[in-house]
Amino acid sequence: MSGPFSFRTLAHDPATAARRGRITTQHGTIETPAFMPVGTAGTVKAMAPEDLEALGYEMILGNTYHLALRPGEDVVRRLGGLHRFMAWDRGILTDSGGFQVLSLADLRTISDDGVEFRSHLDGSLLSMTPERSMQIQMALGSDIAMAFDDCPALPSERSRIEAAVRRTTLWARRSRDAFRGEGRALFGIVQGGDDRALREQSASEIAAMGFEGHAIGGVSVGETAGLSRAVVESAVPLLPADRPRYLMGMGTPGDLVEMIGLGCDLFDCVLPTRNARNGTLFTSTGRLSIKRREFADDPRPVDESCTCTVCRRFSRAYLRHLFMAGEILAMRLNTLHNLHLYADLMRRARAAIEAGRYAEFAAGQRLTGDPKIAREESE
Ligand SMILES: [Zn+2]
Repeated sequence: MSGPFSFRTLAHDPATAARRGRITTQHGTIETPAFMPVGTAGTVKAMAPEDLEALGYEMILGNTYHLALRPGEDVVRRLGGLHRFMAWDRGILTDSGGFQVLSLADLRTISDDGVEFRSHLDGSLLSMTPERSMQIQMALGSDIAMAFDDCPALPSERSRIEAAVRRTTLWARRSRDAFRGEGRALFGIVQGGDDRALREQSASEIAAMGFEGHAIGGVSVGETAGLSRAVVESAVPLLPADRPRYLMGMGTPGDLVEMIGLGCDLFDCVLPTRNARNGTLFTSTGRLSIKRREFADDPRPVDESCTCTVCRRFSRAYLRHLFMAGEILAMRLNTLHNLHLYADLMRRARAAIEAGRYAEFAAGQRLTGDPKIAREESE
């Protein structure tokens, strides 16, 4: 066990807002900018913990809502906390459950007290409040916990976004008062939808509360790419530079490169893992759908410039065969490749910031991909 939570910036890129940092937790250090694979139910789907270690991941995300419903946070606590339960000794960040209760659960009633909802598993009536979210996250024992927030989908009426900002500040204060850190960190979340003034108001209010880090929430909930950029640009300058900034729920490799340049340090997204299970593989030049007939006899690796264990060993033809045959190995190999690509992108981004040439690095990425492939995916 090392000391309590801390964050240090190690280098700043001269031409962008990108920074190179290091988070220290009781479960080791996290070199930033960092991507966190999503481990919804105490597992990053299709990956064993040693796979994630070999890929170089230092922190993963766990979902408070899912773990509270199944197996229940008391089971996890009795078995030594989430690290011990899932046999993962490195960092864990847990979300607050706010996004899930508002997006997944049925029959939501939102009030200033919290959210009443029915479980998506068995329909039972439950409630989530700031205090309950802190209780669950403390039982799970995550290294970074998130304040409970009100995250509306976009587009929403301005009155709904205003109410969410007011409630997010109210709930952030209650989260902070209920959280017993014991060397762990609590991050506040900025909301405000697609409204610049509300984003700035939320960022100022949350930044004034003394959280160990700050997250920008409510992106990737239906807005356009240009809007995400505007949201991040309006919030980042108002968040303390000496604390980590976490952009929640985003994004593609191209999104990550852009958002690192705007000063974000931490990311999570289901894209690399969910897309892998659907047969969509990220490459250094875009995306590739392994289902396509043209790969049936293709002896080349997924990405000729990729150094992952999958690309060193297997052909596109074999991966296509596994996928078409519904073999479970397809999920595992596809996930290994996509998570390698994300980890490698982050390593190269960190090196570029250290070298003071992040702008050149970002300009040199060809991640938007072949438009022909993008069209096929949307069909
Ligand atoms: Zn690969």
